[in-house]
Amino acid sequence: MNLVLMGLPGAGKGTQADKIVAKYNIPHISTGDMFRAAMKEGTELGLKAKSFMDQGALVPDEVTIGIVRERLSKEDCQNGFLLDGFPRTVAQAEALENILEGLDRKIDYVINIDVDQSILMERLTGRRICKSCGATYHLVFNPPAQEGTCDRCGGELYQRADDNADTVQNRLEVNIQQTQPLLNFYETKGYLRNINGQQDISAVFADIEKLLGDLN
Ligand SMILES: [Zn+2]
Repeated sequence: MNLVLMGLPGAGKGTQADKIVAKYNIPHISTGDMFRAAMKEGTELGLKAKSFMDQGALVPDEVTIGIVRERLSKEDCQNGFLLDGFPRTVAQAEALENILEGLDRKIDYVINIDVDQSILMERLTGRRICKSCGATYHLVFNPPAQEGTCDRCGGELYQRADDNADTVQNRLEVNIQQTQPLLNFYETKGYLRNINGQQDISAVFADIEKLLGDLN
C-alpha cells in the first residue's frame, strides 16, 4: 500500500492521515518528520539538510530526495507508506518514481482530498479567539452562543490576522498554483483518486477505505 496524500490547507488531510495509518498500519511520512529524524540520526544527508536550514535556506531537491530514498528503504515501509507533503513539485514526483523503481515498487494511489475553494475559505477564516481568556471558537464547527462574545467569560472575540480572508485567499491560491501541475502529472500516470472532502470526517474516511479495499 504505497500512498501519497494530497489536499489543500483546510481539506482535512491531517485528520485522514491519522486514520489511514492507524487502520492500515503503515508509517505516516511527512517531510518535517523525515528531516527531523535524519538530523537527529546525524546521517550525512541529515547534516546537509541541517546546514541549509540553519542558514534559513531551502533544502535543495537532491538532499530532500536522498532523505526520502533513505526513509522509504527502511524496514517499516516494507508493507507500504503514506507520503504527506512530498512530492511538492513535478520534479520531485519524477524523482520519487525513480526511487520507487529502484526499490522495485510503485505508487498505488495518490489520494487527493478535494474541497471547493469557497468551503476551504469558510473553514480557514472561521476561527475566533477570546481577547480575555484565549478560548477559541469556529463560526462553522464550534460557534459561540452569541456572536462575537465568549461563552466562558463574556469577553470579546477577534480574528487573528493570519486568518483574515485576504491572507487565506492568498495562501490558497499559492497552494493551488503549486499543486495543480502535480495533480495533472499523477492524473496522467493514472494514480490520482479524488475523494470528496466536503462530507463529514467519517464519510470521507469511508470513501478512502472503499478505495483501499482493493489493495488488501
Ligand atoms: Zn473568554
